Amino acid sequence: MSALEIPNKLVDKFGRHIDYIRLSVTDRCDFRCLYCMTEDMTFLPRAQVLSLEELYQVAQAFTELGVRKIRLTGGEPMVRSNVMSLFEKLGALPGLEELLLTTNGSQLDKYAKPLHAAGVNRINISIDSLDADRFKRISRVGKLDKVLQGIDAAIEAGFERIKLNSVIMHGYNEDEVIALADYAIERDIDIAFIEEMPLGVVSDHNREETTCSNAWVREKIESKYELADSKHTTAGPARYVSLRDKKTRIGFISPVTHNFCEDCNRVRVTVEGRLLLCLGNEHSVDLRAILRDPDKGLDDLKLALVKSMDIKPERHYFYEKDHAQPVRLMNMTGG
Ligand code: SAM
Ligand code: SF4
Repeated sequence: MSALEIPNKLVDKFGRHIDYIRLSVTDRCDFRCLYCMTEDMTFLPRAQVLSLEELYQVAQAFTELGVRKIRLTGGEPMVRSNVMSLFEKLGALPGLEELLLTTNGSQLDKYAKPLHAAGVNRINISIDSLDADRFKRISRVGKLDKVLQGIDAAIEAGFERIKLNSVIMHGYNEDEVIALADYAIERDIDIAFIEEMPLGVVSDHNREETTCSNAWVREKIESKYELADSKHTTAGPARYVSLRDKKTRIGFISPVTHNFCEDCNRVRVTVEGRLLLCLGNEHSVDLRAILRDPDKGLDDLKLALVKSMDIKPERHYFYEKDHAQPVRLMNMTGG
């Protein structure tokens, strides 16, 4: 394929149209959530990490290939120095319709307004407990009051459809399902419950014991609220329900107990510039090598993205014994 023949959209060999990317801007974080990281993490040396300009070039190549939605994630995006300049540039990127952020909320009291002004459309904020001690146990170092202030600041800044993300784990926070749902309902914001995925090796808990199925979480919520399947859908593993007379939608992200890969519309780029074709597999393409090759330009990057569609796997195989499990931790993957 020559540069002249580059198509204007990304379609994989199973006919899935990729129009959404999750772009990791750092592997670092001010928390150490026990399902995501180990306690003594070693982070990437600076030279291996894409510069803000390189991250922008990746976003540009994707939008020229029809990607309409980009989510910045990590690690914790807001700890990357000068990350606001990237948000501002992406907010003005032609063709991009939705600029999204997933954050732990610890710095939103400071950044919610500037993010809104930069053109960020929606924010997901992770919160797994409303009890300060327990919040600290799960995040190992996080301060609950900072996150609660961050959520308030995001609401005040005027973001539409703020969504909380909660990973529910047996033995840690399964008794807080209703409290977390109530907290979202009281604020007219959405909440999604996420099943813990087996990404990388964690030492302090056994995931097969702690992973809480969303069927179980849903039943808990149904003990208090009447749920109706919502028309709202996003391609991917989330399914939403609505509540009578409430604005809040409740999502169930169930990558472990349900496989919705046939609808997959997304790929991920790690902060090292590794294009990951699937969250649960290791198939990848080194975009950094192209970005840093003085003889290569935007068309070469676009060609690599188009070709990568041939190796996007059909689905993930979490906990299936005949298949290797991912060795990457979530902070390295770009959650
Ligand atoms: N630091 C930001 C945050 O926490 O929202 C963004 C990155 S974080 C990796 C993105 C999301 O991945 C969070 O909602 C987190 O709860 C989730 N996550 C991390 N490790 C996970 C795992 N092993 N299984 C399921 N979700 C996980
Ligand atoms: Fe940090 Fe987010 Fe991972 Fe928690 S889930 S350690 S906040 S990157």
